[in-house]
Amino acid sequence: MTVTELVSYEDALAAYDPVMGLEVHVELGTKTKMFCGCSTALGAEPNTQTCPTCLGLPGSLPVVNATGVESAIKIGLALNCEIAEWCRFARKNYFYPDMPKNFQTSQYDEPIAYNGYLDVDVDGEVFRVEIERAHMEEDTGKSTHVGGATGRIHGAQHSLLDYNRAGIPLIEIVTKPIVGAGEKAPEVAKAYVTELRELIKSLGVSEARMEMGQMRCDVNLSLRPQGADKFGTRSETKNVNSLRSVERAVRFEIQRHAAVLGDGGTIIQETRHFHEEDGSTTSGRVKEEAEDYRYFPEPDLVPVAPSRAWVEELRGGLPELPRVRRNRLREEWGLSRHEMQSVLNAGAIDLITATIDEGAPADQARKWWMGELARRANEDGVELAALPITPAQVARVCALVKEGSLNDKLARQTIEGVLAGEGGPDEVVTKRGLKVVSDEGALGTAVDEAIAANAAIADKIRGGKVAAAGALVGAVMKATRGQADAARVRELILEKLGVEG
Ligand code: ADP
Ligand code: MG
Ligand code: ZN
Repeated sequence: MTVTELVSYEDALAAYDPVMGLEVHVELGTKTKMFCGCSTALGAEPNTQTCPTCLGLPGSLPVVNATGVESAIKIGLALNCEIAEWCRFARKNYFYPDMPKNFQTSQYDEPIAYNGYLDVDVDGEVFRVEIERAHMEEDTGKSTHVGGATGRIHGAQHSLLDYNRAGIPLIEIVTKPIVGAGEKAPEVAKAYVTELRELIKSLGVSEARMEMGQMRCDVNLSLRPQGADKFGTRSETKNVNSLRSVERAVRFEIQRHAAVLGDGGTIIQETRHFHEEDGSTTSGRVKEEAEDYRYFPEPDLVPVAPSRAWVEELRGGLPELPRVRRNRLREEWGLSRHEMQSVLNAGAIDLITATIDEGAPADQARKWWMGELARRANEDGVELAALPITPAQVARVCALVKEGSLNDKLARQTIEGVLAGEGGPDEVVTKRGLKVVSDEGALGTAVDEAIAANAAIADKIRGGKVAAAGALVGAVMKATRGQADAARVRELILEKLGVEG
């Protein structure tokens, strides 16, 4: 079905209540695949990281990757889940060329982790997203459809298959239906995926880079009339691969569902494709039911039965989780929720922390990263972390300011020099001659010259018009190319003219 007119977001929300379900796939950063010893390294020549097991050749036998199981348990624990005492893998049977075994080894009714939650912050409020399950499975190979305009299979002349990715461990994390988000549904969805990504990264189980496909999100959405209890039929928008896209996909589907329902139409349960260019979705395929997959327990793998002692050991070894850490840092740095949110959005938390660890005061570290450096990153269209300056270098600039060698303006020039590749802060200061003129003799001479050259103004000041001193300060700053401490210059002028500041 195509819909030409979307309902406005406001009108959709006035009539309907959105219900969401988010399914996130995370590729684990294990060295080897989930059921064989093949490498998972990215960027290898196609089909060079395969073996009889991940190619599904007859007679090959899988073996479970222990690190994969450990990572799954860590994720489950960090998501406040219960960890199964005993669970099995299951075969999810379907044919697709990117899946050489003709089934995906997954988990079905016995996931390793279940019944958890993740708290996320939305507009200064806590929203709890309940987790249905986190289960282990394996990735498929990668198809490249050649010759068509869209890169999709339709219209392609032939397809290429690379099985290097087949068998890389995945964890699929599925939420319970998310209700109660109302008009904030798109933001809640984005906040959840953001928080989940931070969590996964903090556990060190995956880099969770969405742009690299290491984390992918399927967005389920349905609408029910305001006040109704029963959920509507959902659509499932597949492989939404950026945080912003998650937000846009939810918003678009709310508006599209409202249009269909408002016209007296029915939503069919189907998968949909998301289009980055305009934020729209289009119909994919009608959704299979679970029974279509003929799930059955995997006979070639032993059940996974993590001992309680091991689970508790892993629980004890969990790092401070991102949200807890953020709240702690917010207090330590004395920021409002809103300010901390900006720091998070800018990707500056770790940079500021590292700068403080290098000895800079918290307010200074934040000032540079969120001010001058954020501006530069924005201008250059790069991530803050990609700027060619290190936290240690920013801390050094802070130290030079503190000891009085640099004022604010010179500090900015120093940073500019570092970014331009002129060397570290000390080198830039030397090369560009940026030190504050703090030599009292030199300053005194500059002040005397300014007074002599501006006799009329000097007289006014002598006569009590202290405010006029600004003009003389300006003259001295100009003469020293901005390299004097303006407050000290003012003091000297007043001293020499014999008036009280
Ligand atoms: P499937 O395998 O069909 O994708 P899953 O159970 O793995 O089904 O995931 C479905 C997701 O959609 C879950 O997050 C679930 O909570 C959510 N969900 C289920 N029913 C609805 C609904 N009517 N509207 C919105 N989300 C739903
Ligand atoms: Mg699913
Ligand atoms: Zn293999």
